[in-house]
Amino acid sequence: MPATPTLALVAHDAKKDAMVEFARRHQDKLAVFELVSTGTTGGRILEACPDLKVTRLKSGPLGGDQQIGAMIAEGKLQGLFFFVDPLSPMPHDVDVKALMRLAVVYDMPMALNPSTADILLRSARLQGLKTTSATPEVGSLSS
Ligand code: PGA
Repeated sequence: MPATPTLALVAHDAKKDAMVEFARRHQDKLAVFELVSTGTTGGRILEACPDLKVTRLKSGPLGGDQQIGAMIAEGKLQGLFFFVDPLSPMPHDVDVKALMRLAVVYDMPMALNPSTADILLRSARLQGLKTTSATPEVGSLSS
């Protein structure tokens, strides 16, 4: 596990206010992690919480979700906070599914809504942050 674990924060447009509120409320807890975020979500979080260390990746629909997926596959992420909007069609629906799929494949601690995010951030598992293996425990996958 890296000295400072990394968490990803991503929110769809209708959930960005909820993500900002989550980041504000937990600023002290989040401050001990490296944070990565998709472009627009990261911008909103930094506006509200300028002291957090947030690395902004590309916007989700422009590849940001896939960048975070790649971090999971490479063992560079320890937790995913992904506030999804299930009520709107998304042009990048395939990327959303792909990101969730990799999080499941690699057994990544993942919160899809604020109440689960609260629990996950408080949880011993995340605080002790299990080392996420870069190799999923799926016997049938060879690479
Ligand atoms: P955004 O991306 O933070 O750049 O809006 C989020 C997403 O839709 O995946």
